[in-house]
Amino acid sequence: MSSHFGLDKFNLLRHVSEVERGLACDCRCVVCQEPLVARQGDVREHHFAHASNREPCVSNHESLLHHYAKQLIEMAGYITVPMPEVVATHLGVDPAVPVMRLSRFSSIEAEVSLGPVRPDLLVTTAEGVTFAIEVAYSSFCDLVKIGEFRAQGLPVLEIDLSRFTPEQFDADDVQHAVLNAIDKKSWLWPNREAELPEPVSIIPMSPDCAVEPPPKIRKPPEVILISGRMVELRLLDWGDLAIRTVSFDPDVVGIVKGVAKSFNGRYNPKFKNWIVPKWAIELAKAELHKRANDLEIVVRQKPPVDHPQ
Ligand SMILES: [Zn+2]
Repeated sequence: MSSHFGLDKFNLLRHVSEVERGLACDCRCVVCQEPLVARQGDVREHHFAHASNREPCVSNHESLLHHYAKQLIEMAGYITVPMPEVVATHLGVDPAVPVMRLSRFSSIEAEVSLGPVRPDLLVTTAEGVTFAIEVAYSSFCDLVKIGEFRAQGLPVLEIDLSRFTPEQFDADDVQHAVLNAIDKKSWLWPNREAELPEPVSIIPMSPDCAVEPPPKIRKPPEVILISGRMVELRLLDWGDLAIRTVSFDPDVVGIVKGVAKSFNGRYNPKFKNWIVPKWAIELAKAELHKRANDLEIVVRQKPPVDHPQ
């Protein structure tokens, strides 16, 4: 097969339609790194060929499309997404804005393994909001995979790029579809159809509520002292861990933020706490203890008293 993508001198993935003709394209093969020529004649469809005339290397359009989408988001530094209320609540952003431009990314990683899931892209904003992006081309997320994202509490956005086959690829259209358009983007989780225990559970029950809540015996929160400042670790009903800096100190807030973010924690501005997904609880706790110990601070358990959520 002939390739439609090459790597330019900045190591950026370029479609054959975006470069100059012939050797002037200044591109290398994505597989073997050999120099390429851009063939943009009138007869055959445009493609890259090895400058040496050697047989083309075999490359996978879908994985190149993933890479291309990631590059677009990285370079633009934003992505416009539909923002249904259920997702906004989960991400801790304004639920009154139906379409939102998410930007100021602190990291965009491709194919990171998070327990059983390996999202195409894992994006974290400077505010600590982490979500996954699945680029759909030939295969779409099935219910099992969506369930795994849900189990991890990791919101997942799907971008349908299935129409951009090698023959139908238009760089401007792809850019628009990835960055600005919302018609082919959908949140697989959370969504209206799926049950969503999180936001409901963290809203304190009103005393007027007619339904009597079952009495719950909650484990008292664990407390870690970092530099003499109290950091509270509370196990939530659905298995995630809430980490809250009780006594304000910018250094301790920074430590908690750093640890929470490194384990895909997301910030909940409403409760001013970081929610760490259940798969990372032990790792996050160990890291916090380590930070506390590094500062030669005592770690102790809070006495078991009543702690209304
Ligand atoms: Zn090659």
